[in-house]
Amino acid sequence: RVKISGRNSALIFDHLMDDITSDQLNIESELVAAISNRELVVFYQPVYHTQHHSISGFEALVRWQSPVRGLVPPDQFIPIAEQNGLIRQLDFYVLEQALIKAEEWRQQGVLKGRIAVNISSINFQQADFVEQVSQLVNKVNGDCNFIELELTETAMMKGADLVSKNIDSLKNMGFSIALDDFGTGYSSLLHLRQFNIDKVKIDRSFTKEIELSTQDRNITSVIIQLANALSIEVVAEGVENETQAYILHVMGCFLLQGYLVSRPLPEAQLMMFLEKEIEYLKKVTEKAES
Ligand code: C2E
Ligand code: MG
Ligand code: MG
Ligand code: MG
Repeated sequence: RVKISGRNSALIFDHLMDDITSDQLNIESELVAAISNRELVVFYQPVYHTQHHSISGFEALVRWQSPVRGLVPPDQFIPIAEQNGLIRQLDFYVLEQALIKAEEWRQQGVLKGRIAVNISSINFQQADFVEQVSQLVNKVNGDCNFIELELTETAMMKGADLVSKNIDSLKNMGFSIALDDFGTGYSSLLHLRQFNIDKVKIDRSFTKEIELSTQDRNITSVIIQLANALSIEVVAEGVENETQAYILHVMGCFLLQGYLVSRPLPEAQLMMFLEKEIEYLKKVTEKAES
């Protein structure tokens, strides 16, 4: 192992930076090919309703199945796609897939609730975003009533009038709107009042140590009460264990997303998951109710 110290450390750091920069360049050019080679795959993570004891929706999460790199998680290429404009094709590809799958699953009788699609704020802030979405929906003859669009608070930071108008247009088309990673952005309360949002997704950073941290528990509780008071649905992200599920259920958050329910799955595995009895989840939530 190389000891990084003194004069050498700067040199080693330089080489490291060179590697990182050239790897970013590689990803950038590979990504262009990846989109046309259909190497992007969509995984789906189910959301569980602890009062209904059933799956109540799914989130579409993109992965890059690269022949050289293997399965690449979105955190490693979304930021690059956002820098070089590829994010437009990427988000629209995932939305197209979701529209097609929603219709397929509905016909098969396995669609529960909506499929949620993440929309980069870069796309949402384009003047023609709603028009582009509308064209795609027409192209695949999709039904917006089966799709939820997930925005982050960064998407709300442009002109309030435009944001408000876009959200209302999308809702008129039949989409529902969720505010993702809630609690990590700016002026959350104002956004809830200003915009016609259907759902907030409590960021994983609050759920992560909810059983250990009184502070995280209190913040989460306030978000849940706020959402309930405004008749906005609330989902907790990143629920990994039964204690977290129990605490959230008792606090009045009944929609849970996380590894406890299921990891994001490729379509074939999701179908197997849906067929399987999810008895252990029923037990967890029945225990919480009694
Ligand atoms: P997100 O929208 O907040 O999605 C939730 C992330 O949490 C996903 O990471 C999911 O795999 C992960 N997760 C779910 N349950 C658990 C859990 O119990 N524990 C832990 N540790 N993690 C959990 P993923 O799939 O790596 O995606 C990361 C982010 O990439 C997403 O965060 C979203 O911001 C972005 N992303 C993914 N797909 C798309 C897309 O199609 N378009 C855009 N613009 N962004 C996307
Ligand atoms: Mg999301
Ligand atoms: Mg999130
Ligand atoms: Mg996130």
